[in-house]
Amino acid sequence: MTSDTTQPELADLVAIVTGGASGIGAAIAERLASKGAQVAVFDLNPDAADPKHFAVPVDVSDDASVRAGVAAVAERFGRIDIVINNAGIGAQGTIEANGDEEWHRVYDINVLGLVRVSRAALPWLRQSPAAAIVNTCSIAATAGLPERALYSATKGAVLSLSQAMAADHLREGIRVNTVNPGTADTPWVQRLLGSAADPAAERAALEARQPHGRLVSADEVAAAVAYLASPLAGSTTGTSIAVDGGMQGLRLRPI
Ligand code: NAD
Repeated sequence: MTSDTTQPELADLVAIVTGGASGIGAAIAERLASKGAQVAVFDLNPDAADPKHFAVPVDVSDDASVRAGVAAVAERFGRIDIVINNAGIGAQGTIEANGDEEWHRVYDINVLGLVRVSRAALPWLRQSPAAAIVNTCSIAATAGLPERALYSATKGAVLSLSQAMAADHLREGIRVNTVNPGTADTPWVQRLLGSAADPAAERAALEARQPHGRLVSADEVAAAVAYLASPLAGSTTGTSIAVDGGMQGLRLRPI
């Protein structure tokens, strides 16, 4: 597909961004809108979304809620071209730290949430000339981060699921890719830092542990997502962009 450089890259396209009311998701919603997309935000907390977006109260761990959200977007805009599966939650500790109930809860959001939203949107994506799914994964999928067993397992599933979906829907013209952020400066990480005895010292230590000596910004992640979601990435599917200061590409170990 050739692009018309006189038009914004995502002009006329409709995008769903899950978890779009905060952090990385909010930056993605902003970036997609700036490129001309109409953006629907699915979030537990839709009132926190930028009012210029179509915010829908959706819990990605509830299939009926997801299907109602997708129906609301289709009714409002008459099409769905882009799905950004970004909603996710963290979990700390080794495999002994969390019982079955917590494993199921985090999987239900981080993995099945992606399945539910994509599944509900597929009939619309099949009708789009520029269909794309981008899933927010993490360095945790492949880095062997200590004390992140459950979270890493969910992101490993996001990675393999994204490749499987890319293969399944290739000939339907639906591309599926992931973005893999390193530690990003979002409300999630700010909450974790805020619970430390000395938040400023904890932040300095966290920054020093990153390969490039600082946290990743949500805007850097959003820029990569916007590229993968756009027709300019029309020959790119089943792959990932790392936004991690070089950790994955340089095969660095988290310290
Ligand atoms: P955040 O906590 O700032 O934002 C997450 C958003 O998701 C919130 O608005 C929240 O309300 C929403 N959400 C949570 N559960 C939901 C549910 N069941 N249904 C609908 N919405 C729900 O987090 P963030 O740091 O912006 O993280 C966003 C994504 O990026 C997550 O998938 C996370 O795993 C991934 N990620 C984050 C980092 C990081 O360091 N912050 C690094 C790598 C990957």
